Amino acid sequence: MSGLDASVTALKGVGEALALKLARLGIEKISDLLFHLPLRYQDRTRLTPIGSLHAGQEAVIEGEITASDVVKGRRRSLLIRLSDGSGILSLRFFHFAPAQQQQLRPGVRLRAFGEARAGATGLEIYHPEYRLTSTGAAPVEEYFTPIYPTTEGLNQPRLRALTQEALGRLDAHPEALPDVIPAPLLARFKLPGLHASLHLLHQPPPEIDLEQLTQGQHPATRRLALEELLAHQLSLREVRLRIQSDGAPVLPTGRNLQMRFLAQLPFALTGAQGRVIEEIGLDLARPAPMLRLVQGDVGSGKTVVAAMAALSALSGGCQAAMMAPTELLAEQHYQAFKGWFEPLGIEVAWLAGKLKGKARLDTKAAIADGRARMVVGTHALFQEDVTFQRLGLAIIDEQHRFGVHQRLALREKGAGGGLTPHQLIMTATPIPRTLAMSAYADLDVSLIDELPPGRTPVKTVVISDERRPDVVARIRSACRDGRQAYWVCTLIEESEALQCQAAEVSRDELTESLPELAIGLVHGRMKAAEKAEVMAAFKEGELDLLVATTVIEVGVDVPNASLMIIENPERLGLSQLHQLRGRVGRGSTESFCVLLYHPPLSKSARERLGVMRDTNDGFQIAEKDLQIRGPGEVLGTRQTGLAQMKIADLERDGDLLDRVSALARELQGDPHVSAVLVRRWLGEAAGRYGQV
Ligand code: ADP
Ligand code: MG
Repeated sequence: MSGLDASVTALKGVGEALALKLARLGIEKISDLLFHLPLRYQDRTRLTPIGSLHAGQEAVIEGEITASDVVKGRRRSLLIRLSDGSGILSLRFFHFAPAQQQQLRPGVRLRAFGEARAGATGLEIYHPEYRLTSTGAAPVEEYFTPIYPTTEGLNQPRLRALTQEALGRLDAHPEALPDVIPAPLLARFKLPGLHASLHLLHQPPPEIDLEQLTQGQHPATRRLALEELLAHQLSLREVRLRIQSDGAPVLPTGRNLQMRFLAQLPFALTGAQGRVIEEIGLDLARPAPMLRLVQGDVGSGKTVVAAMAALSALSGGCQAAMMAPTELLAEQHYQAFKGWFEPLGIEVAWLAGKLKGKARLDTKAAIADGRARMVVGTHALFQEDVTFQRLGLAIIDEQHRFGVHQRLALREKGAGGGLTPHQLIMTATPIPRTLAMSAYADLDVSLIDELPPGRTPVKTVVISDERRPDVVARIRSACRDGRQAYWVCTLIEESEALQCQAAEVSRDELTESLPELAIGLVHGRMKAAEKAEVMAAFKEGELDLLVATTVIEVGVDVPNASLMIIENPERLGLSQLHQLRGRVGRGSTESFCVLLYHPPLSKSARERLGVMRDTNDGFQIAEKDLQIRGPGEVLGTRQTGLAQMKIADLERDGDLLDRVSALARELQGDPHVSAVLVRRWLGEAAGRYGQV
């Protein structure tokens, strides 16, 4: 054993109790100490003249005590005056022992470290670290002093000493932590070697740019971040290779059925739809499972693309399934697919949690014996008691709302004969490139980057709810012109009941102020059949105004609706607002979205609503959302499949990803490199990650 892989208990003086504390920091092996990087550094490398100190500065000072008194004030304290000829300041101790008071007498020389602050006597340092010195004592510290993230009961000097010991072992056994990124590649990227980086980060020499180091911009930090991102990427590539070594049914393009389907559509495909359908077709014709993510902004026509893919599966003698995140959306897809496929002689089935009793049994039987060729539903589709006769293609709509695990559950459904179904994932939440490359390295990505022609971009206005009467007048005039409108009520997520109640109240108020309009209501607590009925009435134009909760967020498609009011939009994230707004602007009339906020707005809310007003571009919105809320919030940590990173930070280090991909391509053929890196950075997590 090299010594770096050993448990920390192999270090001098580390017993069970200390090992437990270290484990809280994720430090179990000696090498873990090396990758536990300082949060920041203190400069104790030189003495600072007292006269040049300013409040907020951390510094080492040295001088002679000129006075020492216990002062009463609000709290009793020991006040020491220290002078070095350039200036004078106070050291203040609120807790002190009589012996300390004895020791710190006038005439004594002290060296002290701490943060100067403006106090009652001018500059003061509270509870400095100090020791007695004599003039001309050796200067201070050779390196900047690292401050580590730590845990209760483990102080900085102790952690520092342990890290020094680990560095000593590294020097004694450099081969124990091999630098697997070849030197020429490092040189190409102008990054330092692994060992040099670790030394520098734990012991920065005084000439270093401390600001750059603290910001994580120093090449040494970047080098480690790069290696960590590379390890994640290599691990994802392995997973991907493993999946692709499974067999999948070979599904040649169902040209015949597809032509008949297209012939009955009232529109021609956009160029982007055509291109993505081609890309999917190539995947389906291969004997390995497709894993493809289709990103297309709200309204870009993803459903038709899904239908075309499904037709290939059906022509190939397989079943296809489409899973939607909400019952409302599943119901809509069901209606769409029924309208499209039944004229082609294809039976479409619907399955959701609320389908009960005999109807459920019948549907399940039809899925199991293959009578139902196309199956649409919610995640109920992928519960254990649902068996497919021969599932060839699983389509997941709006996948950001599903966990990675639900996504994987599909694969288990099997395509018969030991084959794995192809998978198509569709999302309107554009995954920012940085995330797509790291969390989704296991997916191929297709982009529908074009909206159907004749769409006019939605105009968005931000209005205070003091002007509600103006907004009501606007609804009146839109509906008088034969158009339809949505009124969306938002409320804090936890309480669906309250949200539904708020929607009912709004419906009543609006009915009162707009008696001439036919007004409907949908919310999450209504029965599926009731919801479907209201939606159908709205779609048919029997209702002028639909009051709704955010259940209508995804997928709802009524082209004649050209006005949307969102009440309290400040409560929602950008991506959600963009989704909601996507319900309008689907026809050729100019559409409007009114963000009816309740003042006062916080700074961040004002910023978010401003983004909504200024752009309709889903990608820009997603990037902003990511900046404002971070990846975990935007996509849900669970959903991103992002394992916890130790050093890399996707926002800070996003620009490294190009290099990471290039390196991954060059190194993936080398199983040794891959194994070393994955084990070093993902450790035990590698196995779990592998299942994602
Ligand atoms: P999304 O990408 O948001 O899921 P949908 O699939 O719901 O979008 O499509 C939005 C609307 O656009 C639907 O009414 C659909 O019929 C229509 N649509 C899809 N493709 C085209 C096209 N090429 N030309 C015109 N309309 C289209
Ligand atoms: Mg959709």
